[in-house]
Amino acid sequence: MREGIHPEYFQAKVVCNCGNEFVTGSTKEEIHVEICSKCHPFYTGQQKASSTRGRIDKFNRKYGVQND
Ligand SMILES: [Zn+2]
Repeated sequence: MREGIHPEYFQAKVVCNCGNEFVTGSTKEEIHVEICSKCHPFYTGQQKASSTRGRIDKFNRKYGVQND
């Protein structure tokens, strides 16, 4: 393997605005992010969203609504 082809690879510490920290592989040593899996609505709201979807699906089946 020749040197200089691959960038240096770190165990980067990722620091989120919410205070959560985690480690990931990166070419940077430290990364600051505004949102992460702990505070992103997609993750924090996932449980709620899936139960809402379940109710809508039941409603649609009951009344024969096609959803596409
Ligand atoms: Zn966060």
